[in-house]
Amino acid sequence: MSEKLLQVKNLSTYFYTDEGVVYALDDVSFDLEKGEALGIVGESGSGKSVTALSIIRLVQSPPGRIVSGEVLLQGEDLLKKSAREMRRIRGEKVSMIFQEPMTALNPVFTVGQQIMESILIHQHKSKKEAREQAVEMLRMVGIPAPEKRVDDYPHQMSGGMRQRVMIAIALCCNPQLLICDEPTTALDVTIQAQILELIRDIRERLGTSVILITHDLGVVAQVADRVMIMYAGKAMEYGTVREIFTDPRHPYTAALLRSIPVIENKTERLHVIRGMVPSLSKRPEGCLFHPRCDEACELCRTKRPELVTMADGRQVRCHKYTDEWEGQHNDRQ
Ligand code: SF4
Repeated sequence: MSEKLLQVKNLSTYFYTDEGVVYALDDVSFDLEKGEALGIVGESGSGKSVTALSIIRLVQSPPGRIVSGEVLLQGEDLLKKSAREMRRIRGEKVSMIFQEPMTALNPVFTVGQQIMESILIHQHKSKKEAREQAVEMLRMVGIPAPEKRVDDYPHQMSGGMRQRVMIAIALCCNPQLLICDEPTTALDVTIQAQILELIRDIRERLGTSVILITHDLGVVAQVADRVMIMYAGKAMEYGTVREIFTDPRHPYTAALLRSIPVIENKTERLHVIRGMVPSLSKRPEGCLFHPRCDEACELCRTKRPELVTMADGRQVRCHKYTDEWEGQHNDRQ
């Protein structure tokens, strides 16, 4: 039987600003099995990074506040943990890597010192043992001549190497969950492929569960088992990678897929989703996607859709799949 590692239930995080309340994450639920990889996909401002920061309780407060929900890691609610307990959990059980490794690494310490710091904080090891482990971690993430590179400073490494170092730091305490927030956005395409391969390999070798946050559906296709599509702080659709790619049901998911360039199709222009993600402090009435949706009707403009679980288990937040939509559209025929 599959084992749930993480269950996120009705999680909401708001930011209280001078301009009003920003509903960055609004009633989001999902789960993750042991060893599974979940892709969280959306445009900037969709709430995907706030989801990750809320899970590991690193939302800047003020102005941010987790206002409701549960984050159950092996049944224990992280939202009820003390700050001290969370420091232990971050690193030992849950680790995160960020988009830009140069800003995440400290420029005045060698990469070895930075890996060792994490080992010395979380494990009872001597400095010598920690250094040996740091070398092993660099070897594991594919850095050549790790015995030498362990004494390099971040600026002596390429962007891809630095991201490998970040992954080594994240993995040195063998966490159960690795959260990768846009891990390849700042890298060129060949390095991006190598880092994704490394994440896949780590997952297979160590059984680590992965949450991969990205705006790029292509990245998700390479690493994830399941996908959650987010828009304006809400989950719009869940499905397996195959389901999302072959049978997208939410108009936003379908539009995202249409905007991926396909090499065989010689089109003059790529599809673009008209309009912009709405301001999260001044959200539109009804469906949050309705100002950009080609299928929007009066129902969409006035009533917020709920997440509907369909007969085959797919979950979609769209009126199209409700009896109310059927009723209204049949009446017009
Ligand atoms: Fe489009 Fe209406 Fe569905 Fe929203 S609820 S995605 S506006 S069809």
